[in-house]
Amino acid sequence: MALNIFKSGDELFNQGVDLVKRKEYAKARKNFEKTIEKGGRESALAKVYVGIIDAISSPNSGASYDRLAGVLRSCGIDSFEFGLTDAETAKLITECELISERISALALDGDLDVKTNKGNRLLELAQKYQVQIGNSPLKMYEIMKGDTVTTGLREALGLQAIGYETLASATVFFDPKKAAEQLQSAYSCRKQLGDGQGGDRDMGLMKAYSRSVKCWICGRQSTGEGIHFLAMSSDITPFMRTAGDDLLKSAPETYESVYVCRPCYTSISRRSDEIARGYHERAMAEMRAMEARLQAEIASVRGMALMRR
Ligand SMILES: [Zn+2]
Repeated sequence: MALNIFKSGDELFNQGVDLVKRKEYAKARKNFEKTIEKGGRESALAKVYVGIIDAISSPNSGASYDRLAGVLRSCGIDSFEFGLTDAETAKLITECELISERISALALDGDLDVKTNKGNRLLELAQKYQVQIGNSPLKMYEIMKGDTVTTGLREALGLQAIGYETLASATVFFDPKKAAEQLQSAYSCRKQLGDGQGGDRDMGLMKAYSRSVKCWICGRQSTGEGIHFLAMSSDITPFMRTAGDDLLKSAPETYESVYVCRPCYTSISRRSDEIARGYHERAMAEMRAMEARLQAEIASVRGMALMRR
């Protein structure tokens, strides 16, 4: 092949297709770009391939899927092959739109309102995957990671799980019982996905959020461990353990701590912080005064030594 440098757009395209089959995407991309430059017969498909390769190389960028969706919309091709994958253009456009939406929804982060909004958006997105993709496998996943088993329904379950978990993380501040219900929904999604670890995490939070105790300091009833009440180190003597009252039921089994509602807990910890800060400042002031005295003494000893020379 002595005339390599004079290859036509079509030859470059065919070579690019082989490179894609070998997953040599960076090299393939160059071939497709040259095909487009030279106006080869397959220019439209070359543009699609460049878009796909860009999405593969930056899988977490919503913009690369938006660009790919745009190229697919204007390519005028109904279906094509990429590597070993047969793809229908219309379905791929839908997938790109959904992936882009998924990336922007998952990137949301902020206060309780933002969390609620994020959770709801993920649940809406899950519904779109159910309706628009259903039981078909996701072609973009096959192209990007050789995953031929994830269907629209499976993807929806994962999004629902994250959606309910995100909602619960905000709801728990207002209504811990309702947050526990949302976690129950997340748990059943994780179970269907076979995600034992995620399911255990949901179950643990669900139990914590539905737990009710009485505060050892003010006696108020509180629900939602870790959020509305917390364990505080303490010592419940054997005699106290025999009291058999309501409060005792509100103590961890080890008797090494008591449950305290968040308002009591924060008032105590803030006050003790203030006291500790006061002590710290006083100790620092005394140290500075002592240092100044020592410096003065050192200076006078030095002065005396100089005078004796
Ligand atoms: Zn309290």
